[in-house]
Amino acid sequence: MKKYKHIYADLEKVNRHIIIDSKNNNNEHRSHTCNTNRVLRFIRSYSDGCISNSRVINLSSAQGVKMSNAIVWFRNILRIHDNPLLDWAESSTEVNSVIPVYILEENWHSDEKTELGVNRLTFLLDSLLDLDRRLNEKYGANLLVFSGDAGGIIKSLVDTSDEKISWLLSDYCSEPKNRKELNEIKEKLSRKGVEIKIFSAVNTILDIEKITQRDGFKAPKSTKDMKKIFEENNVVNPDGYLSEGNLPIPKQVSSDFLLIDSLVKHKQVSKHYITSNEMRERNYQLRLDSGFDKSYFLGGETEALKRLKLKISDCPDYVSNFRKPKTFSTNEIDNLMEPSTTGLSAYISNGCLSVKMVWNECTKVRNPLDHSKPPESLHGQLMFREMFYLLSRHVENWDEDHGNSNCIPIDWGDYDEEKINAWESGKTGFPYIDSMMRQLDSTGWMHHLGRHAVSCFFTRGQLWQNWKYGRDIFQKKLVDSDWAVNNGNWLWLAGVAPFSMPYYRVYNPCPDNKSSLNVETKNADFIRYWVPELALFPSKYIFEPHLAPLEVQRESNCIIGRDYPLPIVERNESRKENITKFKLSNMLLKEK
Ligand SMILES: Cc1cc2nc3c(=O)[nH]c(=O)nc-3n(C[C@H](O)[C@H](O)[C@H](O)COP(=O)(O)OP(=O)(O)OC[C@H]3O[C@@H](n4cnc5c(N)ncnc54)[C@H](O)[C@@H]3O)c2cc1C
Repeated sequence: MKKYKHIYADLEKVNRHIIIDSKNNNNEHRSHTCNTNRVLRFIRSYSDGCISNSRVINLSSAQGVKMSNAIVWFRNILRIHDNPLLDWAESSTEVNSVIPVYILEENWHSDEKTELGVNRLTFLLDSLLDLDRRLNEKYGANLLVFSGDAGGIIKSLVDTSDEKISWLLSDYCSEPKNRKELNEIKEKLSRKGVEIKIFSAVNTILDIEKITQRDGFKAPKSTKDMKKIFEENNVVNPDGYLSEGNLPIPKQVSSDFLLIDSLVKHKQVSKHYITSNEMRERNYQLRLDSGFDKSYFLGGETEALKRLKLKISDCPDYVSNFRKPKTFSTNEIDNLMEPSTTGLSAYISNGCLSVKMVWNECTKVRNPLDHSKPPESLHGQLMFREMFYLLSRHVENWDEDHGNSNCIPIDWGDYDEEKINAWESGKTGFPYIDSMMRQLDSTGWMHHLGRHAVSCFFTRGQLWQNWKYGRDIFQKKLVDSDWAVNNGNWLWLAGVAPFSMPYYRVYNPCPDNKSSLNVETKNADFIRYWVPELALFPSKYIFEPHLAPLEVQRESNCIIGRDYPLPIVERNESRKENITKFKLSNMLLKEK
């Protein structure tokens, strides 16, 4: 009887009225409404296999029993593995059943243009559909997806639940607008007697709030500072493992169907509700419009776990030898869509994959005696991520160039629509920059060194535009778009932050085979793929095609200035001018 413990626990919780849904020998579902005695008979009469396939579902509403339901509000945690919210709900004696909820900030039902780019939105929809499927398969529960103001929606759920909702569980989010939103929700709900539990360090390794609010916290600037913070917080043991990160998938989480059904039918709630069919249709339409062949990353926990296995668990040598500056910005030679790095960022930033689990998996598979070290190693990459989370919580106005202690407010040029459009659409006349930007537009992803090149080009390199304009375009289009990390990296590359590279070290936007951007230049297949106008160009000229003799352009079926743009700026002149402007602007600021 020990193995049926969870069923007994559930019986206690639901006041001895449950439905048992199980499979018979023909794999057909059968449902039974039972009281305790009948359940005991039922359990005894069934074989082991059948019982382990069964789900226990509360029937409180039907029986008029007062229940303690918890809204589990998934924000940056679109997964069931390493999920402390579900884990707590399973073991808590205070919660009988959960209402899984996700709230899309976008106004789904309006025709207004979305703030999320196509790839970001499809990745998110994939992830929500996958989470819904996994919750359903595992617990027979559905994810309720809403769109609109989170505070209003949660309040409506509580108001219409007839006092059956007494808990709100969610994951901590450090972005200022999320913290403000949560404080407002807390205030509203506490007046209604709803308890709120926020789980820290769900989408990060460190407890960002606790560490940054401690007296004497010093903002990190380097991997060395980050190592110290990791040590001080005892998150890593001598073997390199985190103390957390591998919570098992909860076995038994209950969900009250009847309550959920009545909630989504209520008009105050139903106007915000998005069905899974609506999500599926929108997702299909978006992919159809943009071309199924182009987007590469499918969202969701299922894909995330597959990719973790493919790139990390099954590849000890890759992990042991990983040196970020040596990875190729032009992806794998034999698969131009596949990153030379792990390609896990979108799964981590959307919460489909536990970042702690990634850390522990790297520790597990690497050669303990011989492996690369931070900042170049994979652990080093994850430390940069933590660094930006700490900084973005600590530094006021992290996403601004004024009033931000981590940003020199350089006097950038006026907003230049023509230049910015050329950059965004991949028509600058610099094939390396254009191929990267077209890849971003099509797939929502770009290699880190590609991001270095295009952001340097946009700011202190060639275009002299405020980093915030480029940041906004990245924020909209990247499938791994992450407020803390995106702003942090733009500050870094614009040369304005304490952790920035020196402003005068500018990438050549026409790289050769010696460039630190690590470009495959022999065949230049990456450029040919993304800039098909240049498909027939000889590799010798392909990075600077306007220098090719007219004869070569004719033979390659591409006249520069007609079939592909001339460079929008002269790269050496603009670089020299901008370095001088940066120096001057910085000097004037210091004199003020
Ligand atoms: C201008 C610019 C903007 C960026 N915007 C984002 C963003 O919005 N979201 C985002 O996740 N990354 C951003 N990055 C960082 C980095 O480019 C991506 O995390 C990385 O390219 C993702 O690929 P990967 O998963 O294969 O990385 P890997 O090299 O395999 O690294 C493993 C993981 O470490 C983390 N990581 C790696 N590099 C960084 C970094 N420099 N800073 C913080 N975390 C890092 C990511 O979670 C990544 O998945 C930006 C970089 C630049 C230069």
